[in-house]
Amino acid sequence: MEIRRRDIAKVEYSTNSGDLMVCKINCIETVFKMKEEWKVLFYEEFLRNEARFGESMSNHTSLRIGGPADIFLIPEDISSLKKILNILKRNRIPFLPLGNGTNILVMDEGIEGAVISLRSFRKMEIINEDDKFVNIYVESGFPLQKLVRFSKECGYSGIEGLVGIPGSIGGAVWGNAGAYGYEMKDIITLVTIMGSDGRIREVRSEDIEFGYRGSKISSFASGGEMVISVEIVLKKDKIENVSSKIEDFFKRKRESQPIFEPSAGCVFKNPPELSAGRLIDEAGCKGMRIGDVEVSKIHANFFVNKGKAKASEFIKLMENVKLRVIDTSGIELEPEIRIVGRG
Ligand SMILES: Cc1cc2nc3c(=O)[nH]c(=O)nc-3n(C[C@H](O)[C@H](O)[C@H](O)COP(=O)(O)OP(=O)(O)OC[C@H]3O[C@@H](n4cnc5c(N)ncnc54)[C@H](O)[C@@H]3O)c2cc1C
Repeated sequence: MEIRRRDIAKVEYSTNSGDLMVCKINCIETVFKMKEEWKVLFYEEFLRNEARFGESMSNHTSLRIGGPADIFLIPEDISSLKKILNILKRNRIPFLPLGNGTNILVMDEGIEGAVISLRSFRKMEIINEDDKFVNIYVESGFPLQKLVRFSKECGYSGIEGLVGIPGSIGGAVWGNAGAYGYEMKDIITLVTIMGSDGRIREVRSEDIEFGYRGSKISSFASGGEMVISVEIVLKKDKIENVSSKIEDFFKRKRESQPIFEPSAGCVFKNPPELSAGRLIDEAGCKGMRIGDVEVSKIHANFFVNKGKAKASEFIKLMENVKLRVIDTSGIELEPEIRIVGRG
C-alpha cells in the first residue's frame, strides 16, 4: 500500500478503532522512518546548531499553544537559509516561515515538516537620509517594537500607531499589520523576498498589493516564499511630537486590550465599517470560556490563554463565538489569526 504524506498525518491522529488502528501502526512506522531520515539530513556539520526536532511550538507562540514541529530551523544567515531550502526542496519537506509567532494558532498535533524561524535576521541600518526623510533597511526578524522605539528616540514619524504590536518585521509585512490608521504598507518602499529555490528578488511596494491584514506576500508565502528584508521610509519630525503620539497610542492600547495575557491579537477581522470586537461583545460572548481559553473581558476580539489552553479549545470557542455573532447580527466573521498545523 502506498502511503502519501497527507494520508499519514490524517490517519496518524484518527481514532483507535478497527482497521484504522492497523493503518495507524503502519503509518507511524513510516512516519518514524521518514523523520529519522529528516534528522540525518540536518545533522550535517553546517546545520548542527540550527536544527531542532520535535520542538514544542508553544515555546514559540505568544498564545503559548501548539504541538511539536517535526523540524525547527534557525538559519543564522542567508547562506545557511539557502542550504536549508535546498534540502527541504530536494526532500519535498513542507515548511512554514515564522516571525515572532504572535499571529498564529498552532494545532495541538504540531506542524508537519519544517518551521523556519527568521529570528537571526535582525539587522537594521539607515541607508539614506535628507532633511525631510530617512530610508531604513530592516531585516525580517527585527522586532517591530524595536523599530518603533528607535523612531521615537530619533523623531521619525510614520509608525506611531504600530506601538505595542509584538511581531517581527517579516510577520508585520506579511499581514500588513496596522492600528489607529497606521499600516505597514504606508512606509514600505521595497521588499526582498527569497523563493523556495533560494533565489532572491526585490519587489517594489506597489507590486505587493497590500490589503486589510494581508498582502500578495500572503500567497507568495503559501507557495514557499519569504520576506528577507524591507526598505522603509519615515518622515523626520520633532522628537516630542513622535514620542507623545506613541505614548498616547500605547496608553489607548493598554487600556483597551489584554496586552499582558497570552493571546494572538485580534482573532477575527473587522467586517467592512464594523468592529468584530463590538459584534462579539453585543452577542454576549465576553468572558465565554472553553477549557483554558477565554474571550477576554477587556476586549472581546482577543481570546486569552488562562493556563494550559489547547488549540482544540481555541477552535471550538471560535466556532461558538462565530455562531452567536451570526445569530445576533447575521454577520459571519472571518479569522484574522492564521491557523497552522496538523488536524
Ligand atoms: C497583544 C497583541 C496585540 C496585537 N495587536 C495588533 C495590532 O494592533 N495590529 C495588528 O495588525 N496585529 C496585531 N497583533 C497581531 C500580530 O502581532 C501581528 O499580526 C504581527 O505583525 C505578526 O508578526 P509575527 O512576526 O509574530 O508573525 P507570525 O505570527 O510569526 O507569523 C504570521 C504569519 O506571517 C508569516 N510570516 C512571518 N514571517 C514571515 C516572513 N519573514 N516571510 C514570509 N512569511 C512570514 C507566517 O508564516 C504566518 O503565516 C497583536 C498581537 C498581540 C499578541
